[in-house]
Amino acid sequence: QETILQVNGLKTYFPVKAGFFGKTVAHVKAVDGVSFAIKKGETFGLVGESGCGKSTTGRTILRFLKPYEGNILFDNKDITELKGKSLREIRKDVQMVFQDPYASLNPMQMVGDIIAEPLKNYNKNKPKTELQTEVMDLLTKVGLPTDAYYKYAHEFSGGQRQRIGIARALALKPKLIIADEPVSALDVSVQSQVLNLLKQLQAEFNLTFLFIAHDLSVVKHMSDQIGVMYLGNLVEIANKEGMYTTPLHPYTQALISAIPEPDPRKKKRRIILEGDVPSPINPPAGCPFHPRCPFAKTECKEIKPVLKEVKPLHKVACHLY
Ligand code: SF4
Ligand code: MG
Repeated sequence: QETILQVNGLKTYFPVKAGFFGKTVAHVKAVDGVSFAIKKGETFGLVGESGCGKSTTGRTILRFLKPYEGNILFDNKDITELKGKSLREIRKDVQMVFQDPYASLNPMQMVGDIIAEPLKNYNKNKPKTELQTEVMDLLTKVGLPTDAYYKYAHEFSGGQRQRIGIARALALKPKLIIADEPVSALDVSVQSQVLNLLKQLQAEFNLTFLFIAHDLSVVKHMSDQIGVMYLGNLVEIANKEGMYTTPLHPYTQALISAIPEPDPRKKKRRIILEGDVPSPINPPAGCPFHPRCPFAKTECKEIKPVLKEVKPLHKVACHLY
């Protein structure tokens, strides 16, 4: 399989300004050197607690944010510095599905017009009837009735609104979809329906997903590879089997231990982490996880571990390996 997205040493920093002249006095190191790759047609699950930089990573790949360092290769093109017209061309191929479908849908617009908007933006001369047919087709693809075209977002349930968001993201036939916690706002019963729809659409259109989630249970059935983020860093990348059966990083082990075990006969030891996530303005020296790590040694406080492959298809950033 060919690689469609490659992110190398990506950093996204936000300046912290102070004083009358707004001088930059520090940086929020939201994403602090992240590298990973996704193959065409696969799903990469990016997991971490809120504030770990996962959404910022997604938004930087979409080039809503400017990278501070590193580069982004999409479909064999370096898109790190793209601007204007060439960025607009790339945006057709990379679409986003948001966490809160309601907030991302214009309440004053008919659903049909919401979905047609990207189509209109990129095909100025397309006849109205053709646009309508395409939108009706998209509605059917996401499992909504075609008369949804003439309704408004508030007339739909949370799950249906997310289907509308997905239809809009699909309109331009993208190659990559960045889904930022697409089911977090939905009831558990509805979550699996939306996840199934995404999987089905992936198979039908050979879509690639960057699937962002805050816990490891949601991405389990979706992902080919999973990356765990902590404080702006990717601390572990593995395929599904490796991540859930033999997590290597102490942080991942704690996250895995927090997934509820449905079988009451199986005893599971929950690892509770001490302390809070440090500030990304002044992250700890050495391993960013060392202040909370039960296995931290002297080296961990001084030398930042690099993400390296320690088993086939399994990378970890930790001095224990
Ligand atoms: Fe813990 Fe050290 Fe590994 Fe960091 S490098 S996770 S502090 S053992
Ligand atoms: Mg987020």
